[in-house]
Amino acid sequence: MPLIPLLPIFHRLNREHFASSLVKESKPIVSVKWSDGRLRNTAGFYRHGRKRGGERVCEIVLSSRVLENLPQSAVESTLCHEMIHAWIDLVLKIPESHGPNFHARMKSINASQSQFQVSVRHQFPLPVKPPRWWGICPSCGLRLPYKRLAKGVACKRCCDTLYGGKWHSNCVLIYEPVINET
Ligand SMILES: [Zn+2]
Ligand SMILES: [Zn+2]
Repeated sequence: MPLIPLLPIFHRLNREHFASSLVKESKPIVSVKWSDGRLRNTAGFYRHGRKRGGERVCEIVLSSRVLENLPQSAVESTLCHEMIHAWIDLVLKIPESHGPNFHARMKSINASQSQFQVSVRHQFPLPVKPPRWWGICPSCGLRLPYKRLAKGVACKRCCDTLYGGKWHSNCVLIYEPVINET
């Protein structure tokens, strides 16, 4: 399914919910684009600053991977959420993430229409990432899948049965990378 163009939605939301403040001389003051396929741990983000090379960046990026098979309301809700961040940063010029200004604007947008609802967290199912590590208990041999290394985590079963429920270094998990056979 081809991705829907974001700019028309941006312009409409800007007119309807941001008093056209996110456009100056008919140009958006924040750029809006779809991500490549790699962004998969969030439905979207807003960023403003400099890239590692020093290049300035001010953009809203929506995850094609997360949103491509969801209804348009999911795209609108995500874009609108990120537009609130851009509006707080670029128009109000306040350092705030999901604070009182965010909540107030979200509430008034949600109350003013019923096509989509903005939430503080993007509540869309994320594509499942396979675990990358096995955490292995050196004491009982239990293997648990982990997405990231969690240092110092001990086997609960062994701590409970051998050490009266207290953390003990004898059952701190050791990690082994998961080899994917696919
Ligand atoms: Zn946010
Ligand atoms: Zn154990």
